Amino acid sequence: MDDDLVTRLKTYEGRPAAVAGTGKDPVNAPMIRHWCEALGDTNPAYTGPDAIAPPTMLQAWTMGGLTGHATGRAQAYDELLALLDESGCTSVVATDCEQEYLRPLRPGDEITFDTVIESVSGRKTTKLGTGHFVTTRTDVHVGATLVGTHRFRILKYAPAQQRKTPPRPHRPHRPRPVVNRDNAGFWEGVVRHELLIQRCTACATLRFPWLPGCAHCGGPDWDTVRASGEGTVYSYVVMHHPPFPAFDPPYAVALVQLAEGVRMISNVIGTPYDKVRIGMPVRLAFQSYDGDLTLPVFRAVEEAAV
Ligand code: ZN
Repeated sequence: MDDDLVTRLKTYEGRPAAVAGTGKDPVNAPMIRHWCEALGDTNPAYTGPDAIAPPTMLQAWTMGGLTGHATGRAQAYDELLALLDESGCTSVVATDCEQEYLRPLRPGDEITFDTVIESVSGRKTTKLGTGHFVTTRTDVHVGATLVGTHRFRILKYAPAQQRKTPPRPHRPHRPRPVVNRDNAGFWEGVVRHELLIQRCTACATLRFPWLPGCAHCGGPDWDTVRASGEGTVYSYVVMHHPPFPAFDPPYAVALVQLAEGVRMISNVIGTPYDKVRIGMPVRLAFQSYDGDLTLPVFRAVEEAAV
């Protein structure tokens, strides 16, 4: 049966994943600058009137962004991924990429690209699980000239069964907050079950987390406002990995917008991690950990009883 699947997977080798795709933007100086800033790359070849694009940006010029490419996408790649999904290989991880550069790209170059499914591996077992490697090759052109090739490999796999970790006799403690003279007042408030927000006495701007000066006016003097404790989830992430012994993943880490307008990062407790939502009303609570650590956390506000 597996052999049958592999035979079907192999029929996708050599089929197109994108045909005559076009870059959403010509090669351009602003994107080059953003890339160099993000990577801290100060190579002078990437600035000035004779600038070239960093070669490793090759893939960037082919990417469809959030809205994707209107044209060029071929069915075969979607079919291949669907076939792997049906076979139980529902997870995906990018494993590696290789690029070849044939000539530099310069601002103004308009790129086109073709992507082919180069290979689909037989069944492979990795630490993540068992599945198939899929390699695509994208040939990038300017006009009729091949300027570079980008190979991208993913593993589509069935996740390995999660091992239950045996209970630990001594659970490691949570990491302790770093208390210093700039934030000591905040932690003293937490011990009293008060969440204190700093307020600039010159311009009344609230700030959180605590800082030595006002980011709005530069004033060094401040007092505090006690937060009402009402807030809403402004954004959140669910932590699955890496596991850390003092925590039980998965758990939700939320950016909570306090009623006073500042935002703080905390945990939403008492709600399953997959039920935390943006916009969810939450209320401050103080939770103790390990017997001697108190942390401000948030609980969902119950809907008013009807
Ligand atoms: Zn100020």
